[in-house]
Amino acid sequence: MALGIPSKRGDSAVSIRDLLARGGRSYSFEFMPPRTAAAEAGLWRAIRRLESLSPTFVSVTYGAGGSTRGRTVNITGRIAAETTLTPVAHLTAVGHSVAELRNILGHYADQGVRNILALRGDPPGDPLGPWTRHPQGVRYAAELVSLIRESGDFCVGVAAFPESHPRSPDRDSDIRHFVGKCRAGADYAITQMFFDVESYLRFRDQVAAAGCRTPIIPEIMPVTTVRSLRRIPTLSTAAFPDRLAERMLAAEADPKAVRALGIDHATEMCRRLLAEGAPGLHFMTMNFSTVTTEIYRNLELPI
Ligand code: FAD
Repeated sequence: MALGIPSKRGDSAVSIRDLLARGGRSYSFEFMPPRTAAAEAGLWRAIRRLESLSPTFVSVTYGAGGSTRGRTVNITGRIAAETTLTPVAHLTAVGHSVAELRNILGHYADQGVRNILALRGDPPGDPLGPWTRHPQGVRYAAELVSLIRESGDFCVGVAAFPESHPRSPDRDSDIRHFVGKCRAGADYAITQMFFDVESYLRFRDQVAAAGCRTPIIPEIMPVTTVRSLRRIPTLSTAAFPDRLAERMLAAEADPKAVRALGIDHATEMCRRLLAEGAPGLHFMTMNFSTVTTEIYRNLELPI
């Protein structure tokens, strides 16, 4: 596999499992593999700026249908080799045989990347289109978790859906399958974005009532422009608060006011989640640093 990955380095610490198992909190940032050289330069500027906040980890997404396979492996390896950060590599099962998945895991192990977010992934194009298992692949994320566990000493995260996964026929089966995925060997979960803290708390309590103690880290997606507000339905099925959307749209002519509304809402969500005992926060950065830094500083988190 010609991935152009950087040279091998020492182990990048498997600290997330231990931190969460001790009851500590994890603060982390998510990046996407960029498409162009200019976007890559921007990503590295954001990574360098956010590095100064000393997050527990940073994660790198895996494009739909494995479309960013080489770039995800490359960037994750560079983060491990060239920064002080602990990278978490997202990995999806779409379009991969078990042998290919093992091969990718082998590359990560060689680079000292020991933290994987195990996902089933969506079909490229229409995320809700028919999901077809690779003939020699896996069907659900739980099987990928088991495969990663068998493949070495990896710390494994999984996805959680506070407002239920869009393919789930009902809430009970969604919770049951989530718990099954945790029992397959997940050390923690990260949620899909949501905008109402109650939906996270309900999900967390239902999972706990099912006897599952896997820490569930809420994902925070600050919405700071009207453009991103309009894109929300394409990114997620999570409900956006009507009142906040109305206020943002009313302030459309004043981008600073829209940004302030979005930052205030995200900051308040984070405060409430931490007060309610969430085991940390995972920020979607969209490969920028300023909004995340501002919220992080508002929260006076330890650096
Ligand atoms: P699963 O846990 O396998 O669940 C998929 C569906 O199958 C659910 O409806 C579940 O209830 C059901 N199910 C599970 N087990 C069973 C069973 N045994 N029998 C019947 N039904 C079952 N996608 C990407 O392409 N790249 C990324 O980098 C990426 N990062 C993500 C990060 C986070 C934090 C989150 C929350 C999602 C991310 N996704 C990413 C999206 C994710 O891949 C999709 O939402 C996908 O549809 C679900 O993945 P999963 O791992 O939750 O799947």
